[in-house]
Amino acid sequence: MTAIPLQLPRRLVEFTLDGRQVRVPEGATVLDACRAEGTEIPTLCHGDTLTPKNACRVCVVEVEGARTLAPACSRRVDPGMEVRTGGARVRHSRKLVLELLASSTDLSTTPHVAGWIREYGARPDRFGPDAATRAGQEPKVDNELYVRDYGKCIMCYKCVDACGDQWQNTFAIAVAGRGFDNTVSVEHDAPLTDSACVYCGNCIEVCPTGALSFKSEFDMRAAGTWDESAQTRTTTICAYCGVGCNLTLHVQGDEIVKVGSPHDNPVTHGNLCVKGRFGFQHVQNRE
Ligand code: SF4
Ligand code: SF4
Repeated sequence: MTAIPLQLPRRLVEFTLDGRQVRVPEGATVLDACRAEGTEIPTLCHGDTLTPKNACRVCVVEVEGARTLAPACSRRVDPGMEVRTGGARVRHSRKLVLELLASSTDLSTTPHVAGWIREYGARPDRFGPDAATRAGQEPKVDNELYVRDYGKCIMCYKCVDACGDQWQNTFAIAVAGRGFDNTVSVEHDAPLTDSACVYCGNCIEVCPTGALSFKSEFDMRAAGTWDESAQTRTTTICAYCGVGCNLTLHVQGDEIVKVGSPHDNPVTHGNLCVKGRFGFQHVQNRE
């Protein structure tokens, strides 16, 4: 059977990536090209289902002839451009960004970041004591479904975009405050239960640091029983209605401990409603 392309074919653009000639579809970003070529680029605020925000600056690369480093997540490839991903300028910038982030934010549940800190020789202690061990904001535990721990928030705006016009269109959360006091908040800093939140959990799906987490995960981490190496992930179809959303069930010890959704699903792009995201307790007959 002949495959029918769902998109118009795109012209290929040629450029130089770390000294190699590379061709990518027109409109691809430097990050897309790096991933296709197997070149590792650290990212935090980049979301594969969201418009780039350029907030964290950890993915910067050097573009020949450009005065400043460019964020790989949003810089589109131009024909003939020359990009270097691992030079001294790039490494120094990433090191500093990681030091500033890790000295001000608890990154203890951020995937990959410990490896990047080692790789770039970052020393967050140059800017003060480890944020993970410093007394900071208390986690907001005001409902049975999910916890907001803004001591782990890097202000990447992904949750705000997912809740707002990029996906959910609920606009329950926004950025409040200025400078060091800025934080993600619901209106009037109310408990989540008094807000417009509909508990879709789409903000948790995109949060890169664990600042937003399932209550089940939060409780298990507190009890020392959370063990990702002992978890399986199974993608299945949500049984609540006829839309057919895909759920990824994270199971540890025969219990569903959290629910995600595949980002490459062409209908839902990783988004769910409250039933698909949190309606799993009955499987274990929990309260
Ligand atoms: S759970 Fe859904 S509605 Fe509530 S804050 Fe997150 S994205 Fe917005
Ligand atoms: S709570 Fe998570 S997704 Fe939202 S801004 Fe903070 S780190 Fe980003």
